[in-house]
Amino acid sequence: MSREEWMAHLKKWVAEEKIKQNEPMSEHTSFRVGGPAAVYIKVDTKKELKDVVACLHSRQIPCFILGNGSNLLVSDKGYDGVVLSLGKEFAEIEITGQRMKVGAAMLLAKAAEAAMEASLTGLEFVSGIPGSVGGGVVQNAGAYGGELSQVVAGVYAMNEAGEVIFLKKEELELGYRSSIFKKKPYIALEIVLELEPGDKEEIRCQMEEYNRLRAQKQPLEYPSAGSTFKRPEGYFAGKLIMDAGLKGFSVGGAQVSEKHCGFVINKNQATAEDIHGLMEEIQTRVKDKFGVWLEPEIIFLGEK
Ligand SMILES: Cc1cc2nc3c(=O)[nH]c(=O)nc-3n(C[C@H](O)[C@H](O)[C@H](O)COP(=O)(O)OP(=O)(O)OC[C@H]3O[C@@H](n4cnc5c(N)ncnc54)[C@H](O)[C@@H]3O)c2cc1C
Repeated sequence: MSREEWMAHLKKWVAEEKIKQNEPMSEHTSFRVGGPAAVYIKVDTKKELKDVVACLHSRQIPCFILGNGSNLLVSDKGYDGVVLSLGKEFAEIEITGQRMKVGAAMLLAKAAEAAMEASLTGLEFVSGIPGSVGGGVVQNAGAYGGELSQVVAGVYAMNEAGEVIFLKKEELELGYRSSIFKKKPYIALEIVLELEPGDKEEIRCQMEEYNRLRAQKQPLEYPSAGSTFKRPEGYFAGKLIMDAGLKGFSVGGAQVSEKHCGFVINKNQATAEDIHGLMEEIQTRVKDKFGVWLEPEIIFLGEK
């Protein structure tokens, strides 16, 4: 089906004012790079989402669910499909005792703050991760010894048929930066977290400490997508990259951060091609020197 055909089909299902065409993805990613998405739709309610999913599924229109774009590298050529972003109804929070039900579009930092306000501990480690709760569970985000798998009790998700299903923790297949969402086209809607009672001030101090450490160690002053590569077993990606002599190494406007070699940063108007080129160079040099292949942690969207 050509783009014109699927666009015509989409317009029958989705209100025209909701459809943004040729939306620059550089405005929706923490790397600040990426060409246009053919279509970008912000979906505000579950009913709207169900209709959009039915429409896309019935014509096999390519679709990508965007969280906060903080682990994403979008091609300079953009994405020839529909990018869905979850809006208002997906950013709500409900706390009952030690349970928090959090909408997928809520930012992890806000969820951590809400947990603190309710004197619940267990979510401090996400307070400086710049993603959404949905993106966090997809990636099983983690830091400072914590990982979402430690606190997630289950997820309400939408399947391809537009049905809302509940996935229990065991069904989520949460592993190191992975989950069932990487295998199945489910959309995370609400995440149920099970936390522990704690002391509000201690929780606040812990979050401040984590954020202080981040600011000290990470190049937060430049656009990036966090750690570029996964941690290979028995090694640290940043150390391998540094020991390969790549600290500050650049391709175009992309650079291996001088502050933290595990981060590729957009130093000076980098393109996705620069970032790809730099990542490939890092992989080759680290492999040649240490025999270790670095797997990207960041997610790629669109043709290289
Ligand atoms: C400065 C910086 C520091 C970082 N530090 C850390 C860290 O300490 N630990 C860590 O783990 N990560 C870290 N990251 C990476 C990133 O913030 C996390 O991976 C985060 O969880 C990604 O969430 P997101 O909402 O931005 O997802 P996106 O980047 O938008 O998307 C990531 C993936 O999730 C999918 N997705 C998003 N929402 C949904 C949904 N509702 N349903 C189905 N699929 C969905 C997307 O399709 C995509 O495949 C850092 C990034 C930056 C820029």
